[in-house]
Amino acid sequence: MSEANVKSILETIVGFINENNIWRVSKSINLIAAENIMSPLALKAYLSDFMHRYAEGRPFKRYYQGTRFIDELEVLAERVIGSMLNTNMVELRPISGTIANAAVFRALAEPGDNAVIAPVQAGAHVSHTKFGTLGALGIRQVDLPYNEEEMNVDIDGAIKVIGSVKPKFAVLGGSVYLFPHPVKEISEAIHSVGGKLVYDSAHVLGLIIGGVWRNPLDNGADVMTSSTHKTFPGPQGGLIAFRDEATYKSVSKTIFPWFVSNHHLHRIPATLITALEMKEYGEQYAKQIVYNARKLAEELASYGFNVLGEKLGYTRSHQVLINVKNLGGGAWAAKRLEEANIIVNKNLLPIDPPEAVRDPSGIRLGVQEVTRIGMKESEMSYIAELFYKVLIVKKDPVEVRSEVEEFRKQYSKVYYCFDEKEAPKILTLLDLLS
Ligand SMILES: *Cc1c(COP(=O)(O)O)cnc(C)c1O
Repeated sequence: MSEANVKSILETIVGFINENNIWRVSKSINLIAAENIMSPLALKAYLSDFMHRYAEGRPFKRYYQGTRFIDELEVLAERVIGSMLNTNMVELRPISGTIANAAVFRALAEPGDNAVIAPVQAGAHVSHTKFGTLGALGIRQVDLPYNEEEMNVDIDGAIKVIGSVKPKFAVLGGSVYLFPHPVKEISEAIHSVGGKLVYDSAHVLGLIIGGVWRNPLDNGADVMTSSTHKTFPGPQGGLIAFRDEATYKSVSKTIFPWFVSNHHLHRIPATLITALEMKEYGEQYAKQIVYNARKLAEELASYGFNVLGEKLGYTRSHQVLINVKNLGGGAWAAKRLEEANIIVNKNLLPIDPPEAVRDPSGIRLGVQEVTRIGMKESEMSYIAELFYKVLIVKKDPVEVRSEVEEFRKQYSKVYYCFDEKEAPKILTLLDLLS
């Protein structure tokens, strides 16, 4: 490779980074329900030397030297997050929600055992299925039945399935759900056959901590697995929280050495700062998310969209689901919105057969990130109008894009977090290395 060539590749790399930053953070409306942005202080804390280091094992009992500060931070993070979830048993080492699920599923069952999961129509994540982590571990997937009216797990049917299958564990919580799953009822059924209830709170952790979604650990779940970057606006990562000590101990042993070696240490202080911000502002933030989601759903419906869950009040989470089959389909709608700088994902709806993944009937929207940059109900009305222009009037999306960019300019601040300038100053690596 010639020197000129290297220089031009470097320019390309930097170009892509810069363009993506500008596009996704300042020129588009991000409605991907699984994403969020960190606060300025958490961002600064994220870029630390911890990203270079190892700390295998549990805090203060590591296999490596040099870990005294991460030991302190990890214990503190577990304590602070535990206090917010009403438990003193938390694990932050899983580097993602999927890894958290893997560690828990593996500790609760052996290959060949059965697990029952929420039906895909009620939002089960791929990691709960035979196509994902559950299947990779050789654990058998048995679906709980679905209740169309309630858009949820069918409780009576689920109790029967659990009674006859006698699974090692049940998994609730999901990726595409508007209404809370029946944690209490399923926990009673699974406990009566000696199994455990795992609640996967990846999408709703921020809502639970903000007090607008029931804490599964207080309603019968034995274990809670999660991502730390969806409604909870931390760095990408995972966590597990426990109700009983035996499960805590057995899962803790599987995380290392089975599922992580290094656990991406720089996440820990950034996650902890995010947790403190949630302690301070989480309630306000979570309430606004739910107001915004409902408002967006109502406004979309008033523009003529087929919004799911009308009879049940549209949504109790951060999500809104629209059936766009008659307008051109989920793949078409998502692509067209992207051309207008509105970022969503196409999604299977409860009515879709599983084969429809490439062109499902729906799109899924989440309002947590737009809420974080200060948008409220009036902005939801405007976003619904943009959807109307792009998908129903079928206006040229490139024209709508300039409206989106103009609108988006007004929102460059992150809310519900500490003022970075008033916080203790973080010495960045770049202050030390040059
Ligand atoms: C996003 C998600 C996951 C996976 O989380 P990662 O952190 O991306 O591995 C697991 N479970 C549910 C319900 C999810 O929505």
